[in-house]
Amino acid sequence: MLAIARTICVVLGITACASPVEHRIEYRQRHMGTEARIVVYASDSSVAAAAATAAFARIAEIDRDLSDYRVDGTVARIAAAPAGHAVAVSRDLAVVLSHALTLAAQTDGAFDPAAGAVVRLWREARRSGALPDPVRVRVARAHGGWRNVAVDTVARTVRPAVAGLWLDLGAIAKGWAADEALAVLRTNGVDRALLEFGGEIVAGEPPPGADGWRVAVGSAAQDTTLLARGALSTSGPAEQFVEIDGVRYSHVLDPRTGMSLTSGRSATVHAPSGWLADALATAATVLDSAGLDRLARAYPVAAITVW
Ligand code: ADP
Ligand code: MG
Repeated sequence: MLAIARTICVVLGITACASPVEHRIEYRQRHMGTEARIVVYASDSSVAAAAATAAFARIAEIDRDLSDYRVDGTVARIAAAPAGHAVAVSRDLAVVLSHALTLAAQTDGAFDPAAGAVVRLWREARRSGALPDPVRVRVARAHGGWRNVAVDTVARTVRPAVAGLWLDLGAIAKGWAADEALAVLRTNGVDRALLEFGGEIVAGEPPPGADGWRVAVGSAAQDTTLLARGALSTSGPAEQFVEIDGVRYSHVLDPRTGMSLTSGRSATVHAPSGWLADALATAATVLDSAGLDRLARAYPVAAITVW
C-alpha cells in the first residue's frame, strides 16, 4: 500500500506526499526484577524517545503500586490491615485484582492472586535451598486464598477477610504493565511498537511493510510467529526454580495444596491483551487437562498451548 502510494507520488512528481522513513529504535530498562524492552518504528527519534520514557515511567508506577516486595506499598498495607477492613487502592490495583479473582473462580483456585503468604515461603526456600516447613505452609494458606478477599472496583477498595493476607499479582502484573505501556506509546504518537517484558510480549501495529513482529515461541530458536495487535506470554520453570534433592521446584505453585510445581510444564498463550495472556499462561501450567479444557472454553479469544 505504502509502495503504491510512493509510486503515485513519484509519477505525479508530488514530493510533499512522500512518507517519511521510519527507523527501528530499541530501548531497554530494568523493571520488576527483569528487563523491559521496547522496540518501535518511528520517523521522529525525539518523539519515540519521549514516548518510550513515558512508557517506562508507567511501568515503574505500576510496579510501585502492585509489587508485594515493597514494605511501604499497597500490598503491604493490605497485609497489615485487620480482618474485614476496607483498604483504599488505586484503579490499577482494583482492576488487576478484579481480573485475577475472576480467573481464580474460573480455575477453582489453581490461579490465586491471594496466595502471597505461601509464595513467600517458597521464595525463602529458593534462597535457602530447604523445603518450607509444612506447618508454616498450612498457616500461610489459612491467611490467604482468593475466597478471603473482595475488591470493589467502583469504591476502589480491597477487603481482606483475614489478617495477614498477602496479595501476589506477580502472575498478571507484568502483562498489565505491558498493556499500559503500549497504550502510553500510542497516546504519545508511536503505534508501531513491541514490548517484551520477562515472558510477556505485547505488540501494537506491525513494522512497516510487515504483517507482524517476528517473535520467539517455545524453546527452539526456529520456533517463531508473527505478532500484531495482541499478546504472547510464556510461563514455566525454565528460569525461576530451586532444585532440592534432585527435584526442580517452580516459582509457580498450586495454591490448592501449597506445593510448588514439579511437573516441568510450560505454557504459551496468545491473547488480545497482555494481562490475559500472562494470567492464563500461569494458570495453564497449574491445571490438569480437564481444568485446561474448561479454561479454553471460558476464553475462546485465547490460544493456549501447554508443553
Ligand atoms: P513470570 O514471573 O516468569 O512471568 P508467571 O507469570 O507465571 O511467571 O508468574 C509467576 C509468579 O506468580 C510467581 O513468582 C508468584 O509470585 C506468583 N504465583 C505463583 N503461583 C501462582 C498461582 N498459582 N497463581 C497466581 N500467582 C502465582
Ligand atoms: Mg503469568
